[in-house]
Amino acid sequence: MGGEEPSKIAHESLNDKSSESVHSEEYIWWGKNMRRVIMPLFLLVPDTFLYNKYIYINNKDGIMTTNELVLANGRILDGCGNPWFWGDLAIQQGRIVEIAPAGTLDGSETIDAAGRFVAPGFIDIHTHSDLSILVNRRAESAVRQGVTTQLIGNCGMSPAPVEAAHLSEMRRQWGPISEQPEITWDWHSFEQYLDALQDVGLGINIASLVGHGAVRIAAMGFDERAPTSSELIRMKELVAEAMQAGAFGMSTGLVYPPGCYASTDEIIAVCQVVASYQGLYASHIRGERETILEAVGEAIHIGREAGVPVQISHNAPKFGAPCDASANLRLVEEARSMGQDVTVDNDVHTDLAPSLTGGLPQEMQDLPANQIAIMLQDHERRRAIRNEIVEDRKPAFGPVGLLKHGQWQRITMLHAPESPSVIGKTIQAIATEQGGDPFDTYFDLIIENGHEAEAIFDYIEDTNIRLLLQHPAVMISSDGQVLAPYGFLNDPVPYQPCSYGEYPGVLERYVRNEPVLSLQEAIRKMTSFPAQRLGLRDRGVLREGAWADIVVFDLERIHDRATNLYPHTYPFENYPHQYPDGINYVFVNGVMMVGGEGHTEALPGKVLRHQTKY
Ligand SMILES: [Zn+2]
Repeated sequence: MGGEEPSKIAHESLNDKSSESVHSEEYIWWGKNMRRVIMPLFLLVPDTFLYNKYIYINNKDGIMTTNELVLANGRILDGCGNPWFWGDLAIQQGRIVEIAPAGTLDGSETIDAAGRFVAPGFIDIHTHSDLSILVNRRAESAVRQGVTTQLIGNCGMSPAPVEAAHLSEMRRQWGPISEQPEITWDWHSFEQYLDALQDVGLGINIASLVGHGAVRIAAMGFDERAPTSSELIRMKELVAEAMQAGAFGMSTGLVYPPGCYASTDEIIAVCQVVASYQGLYASHIRGERETILEAVGEAIHIGREAGVPVQISHNAPKFGAPCDASANLRLVEEARSMGQDVTVDNDVHTDLAPSLTGGLPQEMQDLPANQIAIMLQDHERRRAIRNEIVEDRKPAFGPVGLLKHGQWQRITMLHAPESPSVIGKTIQAIATEQGGDPFDTYFDLIIENGHEAEAIFDYIEDTNIRLLLQHPAVMISSDGQVLAPYGFLNDPVPYQPCSYGEYPGVLERYVRNEPVLSLQEAIRKMTSFPAQRLGLRDRGVLREGAWADIVVFDLERIHDRATNLYPHTYPFENYPHQYPDGINYVFVNGVMMVGGEGHTEALPGKVLRHQTKY
C-alpha cells in the first residue's frame, strides 16, 4: 500500500463497499494527511460520524488493529438461540465490525465485560410509547432494562394519521399525556408524525405500526356503524400513506372504540392494503376471555383472507377464559401447519392497573367524567350499564372479566384522589365495610374520582404466562411504555412494572431462578425473533455488519426492582418504580446509553422505516 495516497484509499474503500460491509474496510491515516482522509468520511457518512469518538486504524498488514470500542472477554449470545461463547466484539461507526475469540481485539477504548453476557439489545415488539417517547426522548425506563428498539402503534392506537375535525376526540382518547407541552399535535399524516419523532432525537430506535383505530377515527370519527364505501376508500388511502411513510404494518384493538365497531370484513379490506406493502397485521383480538378462541380464529381468518402475516398481541387468556393458553396456542400451531405465518407476543405480568372507567361499556369510556357521573347517578341507567358489562356482547378488554364474574377481591384500589381511604383495599373489602354491593361501590368510586380512579386488576394466571413463554412461536414484549421516575410520566405514579422491568424480570425469574427457559432461548425471544417479525435484517443479532445495539448484563445480579413480590398488598413495595439491577451497559447504534455512570444524554436512536416494495 506504501505509495498510494491515503485519501484515495479511503474513497475507494467507501465507494466500492456497501455500508453493510464497513467492517472489512481498511482505513489508514498518516500524520499530515489525516485531514484529507477524515473529510470524505464525514461527508459520506454524516449520521454515524456524529457519534464517532475516535478515528481508528485497522491495518491488517501491520501489528496494530485499533477499533473505536471493544467489548472484551464477554460471553457472547448471538440472539439466534445459540449458546454463548467467549469473545471480543468491536464497534466502529455504529456497527459491529468484528467478533473474535476473547483477548484478540484491541480498541481505542476497551470495556472489560469480565465474563458478563453480551447480547443484542432487546426489541420490544409491543409498546404504547407513541406519545411518552416525545415527553421522555431519552427513553429511560426502556433503555435501562436493555431495550434498544420499540415497536409503537399497537392495539389500534397511533397518534397519526389525524384529521383536524377529530383531533379533540383523539386527544381525549390518549388522555392527560396528550395535553403535555411536548405533544404539539402539529402533524396530520403518519409521515409527519414519524418526522416529529426523529426531529429532536431519540434515545432508542422506534418502529411503528399504524393504528386501525386512528385511521377509522380520521375517516369517520367514533361512529358505531360500518363505514360508507367512500369512508372505506379513505381508510385504505390513509393506510397506504402510512405504509409508504414506513409503517411496519397495521394494528387493531378490537375491544376498544372504535375498533370494536369494525366488522371482520372491514378489517380484511384494510389489511389487503397492508399486504400489498408486505406489512404485518398485529391484533389486540376481539376478546381475550370468554371469546378468546373465536377471536384468535378471527385474527387468523383475517390474515388468510388478506394475505398478511399475523401477530397476536399479549395473548395470555384473561380471567373468564374457558381454557388455558395451550388452547389458543394450538390454533396458532394449526394455522402454521397449514402454511400461514402467525406468531404471538406476551408479557409476564399477571396484573394491570387501568382506570376504573376502562371497565364501562365502550361508548362511555371516553366521555368527560361529569357526563359519566350523571349517567351512573341515574338508577335505571346504572342498572342498564351493569347489565351491559355483565352481558359483554361487544367483548370488553381483559380486566373486565373480574367485573363480569364478580371477582371484586382481585381488584385493589391504587389511586383515588377524592377517596384516599380506599387506597390499598379491594373493592370487595370496601363494599363489605360500607355494607353495600361491590358493583355499586365500583360505580360510586367512578362518580367520586372520574377517570382518575385506578385499580390493580389481578386477572392473569402465571401458569398461562409460563405456557406462552415456553412456546417457540411466542416472543417477549412488555405492553408498556417509556416512563421515567420523575416529572409528568411519574405523576401520579403509574403501576406499570412492565415498563421498567419486563426483560430483566424474565431473565431473573424464568431463566436464573427457575429453568422455565434457557438463557439463549429467552434472548432469542427478545432479539432476533422480533427482529425477524419486523423484517429488521441488521438488528436483533450480534454479527459483523449489524448495528451495534447491544446489552451487557450480569445474570447473577440481574434484578427487576419494579415488580412487587406482593403486588396486591398495601403498602405497595418498590413504589415509585425503580430501574433494574444487573444491566451494566447498553449501546444504541454504537453509542453508550447506559454505563458505569448511569444514563447518558445521548440521543442516537433512529426512526426505523419498513422497507416496502412498491
Ligand atoms: Zn392491547
